[in-house]
Amino acid sequence: TFIVLEGGEGAGKSTQVGQLSVWLRDEGFEVVTTREPGSTRLGMRLRALLLDKEHTGMSPRAEALLYAADRADHVNEVILPALRRGAIVISDRYVDSTLAYQGAGRDLPVSEIARINDWATAGLVPQLTVLLDLPAEDGLARLGGTTDRIEAESQEFHDRVRRGFLDLAERDAGRYLVVDARGPAEQITREIQRRIRPLLPD
Ligand code: C5P
Repeated sequence: TFIVLEGGEGAGKSTQVGQLSVWLRDEGFEVVTTREPGSTRLGMRLRALLLDKEHTGMSPRAEALLYAADRADHVNEVILPALRRGAIVISDRYVDSTLAYQGAGRDLPVSEIARINDWATAGLVPQLTVLLDLPAEDGLARLGGTTDRIEAESQEFHDRVRRGFLDLAERDAGRYLVVDARGPAEQITREIQRRIRPLLPD
């Protein structure tokens, strides 16, 4: 079972990944939690390149390809091996982050980025994608102090990213759960649990 959490900056994805993994381990499942970018040795190098402010102004296509390279390695080294041994994989971000950030955010054609990522992941699609949705300004306000290259983008950029995620959720409603990320964390966890339960192996 492959589950992904998506959302903009400060949406609380990592908190929810943590809560869900505790719950599922309590239920007796093997759980692998992971995130993008940067969950492999190669990925950590790519993450450093991608988030370094030295590369402000990186060409959008190069950025999209670096994220795709990170994702290809992530699928191959972490996600597929875990799924093959029957583990539940919960990833903080996946392909839809790229469609929202590099597509809607950077204004590249979403269909072309989808094609590249379909190839990079060999077509691996999650059973469920949870979108933690909140207004970009609320999310950015939650970030403490220092910001990376992407977080430092304009509010308009982050508004486009949010819209991009919501469009994806609308177009692929069967795979999506959209949650209002402004509510209390425990309530959000319960809402996600209700949706995950029917997907669990017996
Ligand atoms: O989720 P996390 O904060 O670790 O993501 C790291 C940074 O990478 C964030 O600033 C996020 O906006 C950015 N990112 C991106 N495109 C992606 C995935 C993440 O710009 N496809």
